[in-house]
Amino acid sequence: MKWKFILFVVLAGVLLAAAWWLLAGEGSAAAARARMVKEQLQARDISDPRVLAAMGKVPRERFVPAWLAPFAYADQALPIGQGQTISQPYIVALMSQWAEVRPGDKVLEVGTGSGYQAAVLAELTDRVFTIELIPELARQAQATLRELGYARVQVRTGDGYAGWPEEAPFAAILVTAAAPQVPPALSAQLLEGGRLVIPLGRPGGLQYLKKYRKVKGELREEGSLPVRFVPLVKPGE
Ligand code: SAH
Repeated sequence: MKWKFILFVVLAGVLLAAAWWLLAGEGSAAAARARMVKEQLQARDISDPRVLAAMGKVPRERFVPAWLAPFAYADQALPIGQGQTISQPYIVALMSQWAEVRPGDKVLEVGTGSGYQAAVLAELTDRVFTIELIPELARQAQATLRELGYARVQVRTGDGYAGWPEEAPFAAILVTAAAPQVPPALSAQLLEGGRLVIPLGRPGGLQYLKKYRKVKGELREEGSLPVRFVPLVKPGE
């Protein structure tokens, strides 16, 4: 009789603890996300309400390896495997703000990585296309995006230097890896008036995140910020 009661108490305790842990975990992610939006984005120069809302909604902890989930909302880039990184939240927000994405815009991302930037873009328009060179990352990102309800994002494995000619032209193109200069195919696939956001510079050296707008067929620079990105790899080199 007594041991049954003890077993009941122990089991109930374990269940209660598990439920509390799960609920508190959810809550603390939401709280960390709200704090990130306030302290890392609004406190700097992110003011586009749609971008702030998107960053306040996408669960970044689901796009990082499980062991790094407690650091998902830290003010820094994090490793995502295969030697690649998910950008710092501020950089994702700034790139999204510079891309000026409006509902219905067709947007191309080069460098899917974890899929996080693509999810943020999917909160801004329902036409998001993203290319990733490493098949394993493309697969993983697609699975995460599906699980979270971003099934409309189209993920392709391939070389982003070539863009996505079948879906061009795009109202905005975001490149999330650094190239020595603007790949010609990407400027060609940009609409007149379209925005290109891309880090330019040497791998491991000085790089600048650039914002361009296509005006009369030419790229006009509208923004520049020193940054550090992984390199946009030329396959076969
Ligand atoms: N936007 C990502 C971060 C990507 S890091 C996120 O939100 O998580 C840059 C990514 O670009 C890496 O995953 C890398 O594999 C990819 N990449 C590098 N060279 C590429 C190329 N030529 N074409 C497509 N993707 C490339």
